[in-house]
Amino acid sequence: MSSTDLIDSHGRTVRDLRISVTDRCNFRCRYCMPAEGMTWVPREEILTFEEIVRFARICVERFGFDGIRLTGGEPTVRAHLPRLIEQLAQLGTDLSMTTNGATLRLLAGDLAEAGLRRVNISLDSLHPDRFEKLTRRDDLEKVLDGIDAAREAGFDPVKINTVMMRGINDDEIVDFARFGRERGVTVRFIEFMPLDAGGEWNENLVVPADEIVERISEAFPVAAVTRGSEPAERFRYLDGGGEIGVIASVTKPFCGNCDRVRLTAEGEFRTCLFALDEFDMRPLLRGGADDEAVAEAIAVAVGEKWAGHRIGQVNFIRPSKSMSQIGG
Ligand code: SAM
Ligand code: SF4
Repeated sequence: MSSTDLIDSHGRTVRDLRISVTDRCNFRCRYCMPAEGMTWVPREEILTFEEIVRFARICVERFGFDGIRLTGGEPTVRAHLPRLIEQLAQLGTDLSMTTNGATLRLLAGDLAEAGLRRVNISLDSLHPDRFEKLTRRDDLEKVLDGIDAAREAGFDPVKINTVMMRGINDDEIVDFARFGRERGVTVRFIEFMPLDAGGEWNENLVVPADEIVERISEAFPVAAVTRGSEPAERFRYLDGGGEIGVIASVTKPFCGNCDRVRLTAEGEFRTCLFALDEFDMRPLLRGGADDEAVAEAIAVAVGEKWAGHRIGQVNFIRPSKSMSQIGG
């Protein structure tokens, strides 16, 4: 079947699907979940593997999607994840996953064998006590070992996602750069976004991407790499020591190039991280709708994709869902 590009009302072609395979998580990161944790979505409301694969297949076959990323919650807590990956890998797109990394020593080999090619591992402090305060889990060693396991399993590239927060971990900017150089991984510094369930976000906690690059460049000079369509601005070390990325979602939104949509664990289709409206695909996927009807629902939703978020403007409204429920 020949595919048709899925173009939103602002002229952007949508071709990247982020699938949250579970809302559950073994961590409770401060910037993502409230201290008391979340109420998990009941299991019967979570999409089955069959439903997820069908939705992804429609995106690929009908609309030529070329990227699928698994996220969560924590995707590795979903039972039998390699089975899902095996099926998604057959769709032939770039297939990647964002994970907190704590279980990669156990799982990386199976995930790679199933067809996963790339992983992003989230890590926000290299100090055990601070790591524990941030994630509410004493698992820094497991995550560091998980990064090694990911490299040993052949994932390429292995990227580290680091959310920078002023006064909380921004004294580690250069340490993270050094860590990336030493371990052969690309660190991507992400600006803190107002998607924390605890509602602690304020603009003063955001460390602007430009400042991050400047601070790294003082220690290890960098030069910009020509930007593609990806949200990260990339910089390479002049001495050949690899590269870093910065994701300036708050200070320099990349909404004009956004090619993403998201499917939550319970089947809500979201056309923007900050969307206030969702399109419930589960009744279609469970109610006998044919592929044509599902494709039509996807096209209608994408037609309403926003031009961009309005963080920092008076009319910005925080989505009621946190990052862990949306999938980063
Ligand atoms: N559990 C997995 C993990 O931690 O990588 C996947 C889900 S997590 C919600 C996806 C990404 O969102 C992580 O890299 C995390 O650091 C990032 N994230 C969570 N809350 C955020 C926030 N308020 N601002 C910016 N990034 C955030
Ligand atoms: Fe869990 Fe990832 Fe959110 Fe941390 S950032 S609480 S690991 S979903």
